[in-house]
Amino acid sequence: MLKEGDVVYAIVADIRKTMATADVVAKEGTERQVGGETYATIHVSKISPGYTEDVSKELRKGDFIRARVIGIKPSLQLTTKEEHLGVIRSLCSRCKGEFVKKGENKLYCEECKYSMPRKLADDYGDVQI
Ligand SMILES: [Zn+2]
Repeated sequence: MLKEGDVVYAIVADIRKTMATADVVAKEGTERQVGGETYATIHVSKISPGYTEDVSKELRKGDFIRARVIGIKPSLQLTTKEEHLGVIRSLCSRCKGEFVKKGENKLYCEECKYSMPRKLADDYGDVQI
């Protein structure tokens, strides 16, 4: 079971007006599957250290993220505010190619030649999954 303070890996499931939802797939440091509740929410105020009002400028559906558990009741609540937290892998929505990191919090598709903002973990593109 997960508890507050745990670092987890999750896949962004949906983007809403004031939050993102995600499915927790693993807990850092263990190979066992996560037991219990895996549905989690990330409130817009808990995504990045700066002021965010548009969730879709920070996270997108299908993004693979590293996050910290900050609440477990009534459902899992996560944050990606820390430097080491955020998106660790993302695919281009047009061509499904792998986005590369370009700049502080930007992803770039070399195939489609376009970039998108994201809240990236400091080791984006360098994570063994
Ligand atoms: Zn692309």
